[in-house]
Amino acid sequence: MTFEQLKLSKNLQQTLAEQGYNKPYPIQVQAIPAILQRKDVLGIAQTGSGKTAGYVLPILSLLEKAELGKNRHIDALIVVPTRELAVQVQEVVKIFAQGLNAPMKSMAVFGGGSINPQMIGMQGVRILVATPGRLIELVESKAMSLAEIKMLVLDEADKMLNLGFEEEMKKILSFLPKKRQNLLFSATLSPELKEIQQMMLDNPE
Ligand code: AMP
Repeated sequence: MTFEQLKLSKNLQQTLAEQGYNKPYPIQVQAIPAILQRKDVLGIAQTGSGKTAGYVLPILSLLEKAELGKNRHIDALIVVPTRELAVQVQEVVKIFAQGLNAPMKSMAVFGGGSINPQMIGMQGVRILVATPGRLIELVESKAMSLAEIKMLVLDEADKMLNLGFEEEMKKILSFLPKKRQNLLFSATLSPELKEIQQMMLDNPE
């Protein structure tokens, strides 16, 4: 299997070659076609498996072709448990967003520091990588809107549960439109994870 066979855009294929990604990892072979077909995905994958590119590449490919939304309305939301992961994931988004034929501003937001620069920086952001608490603060302060999200990723969902983010996750889901693509990634498949999956699909409004 090659990245070309996965039908990613030419621009993305060019960056993949430049980054030394010669062929897709197994999780990418499975996840990329399903995400490009706008299916919901549950991916069981460890760190190091290539799961980040497994969702970032098809999200960029879909957004590159999508119509540009309103300012301060996020297109793709990636929720992660830690600041470190937020920074790491946004770095991958940034690398692959280079050279696309559409504006593709992304940003990582997390607690611990001042919220003001994050509020200002939200201008023009299409892909937001966020930890739960700070994300809720930003929505409640109207720095941006999640009402037109097209794709939601919950990455390391098992870790989010272990860190006690269940209530925050429910609250975040209540900010999102019912019609969206749900991508759930976790290192383990537990009954609690099944609950999260159900929560994502039920999506109370
Ligand atoms: P992740 O599991 O997403 O944290 O990725 C683990 C590492 O594998 C990262 O350093 C990626 O840059 C790298 N990587 C992901 N997919 C590929 C690939 N298809 N070919 C080569 N390296 C990759």
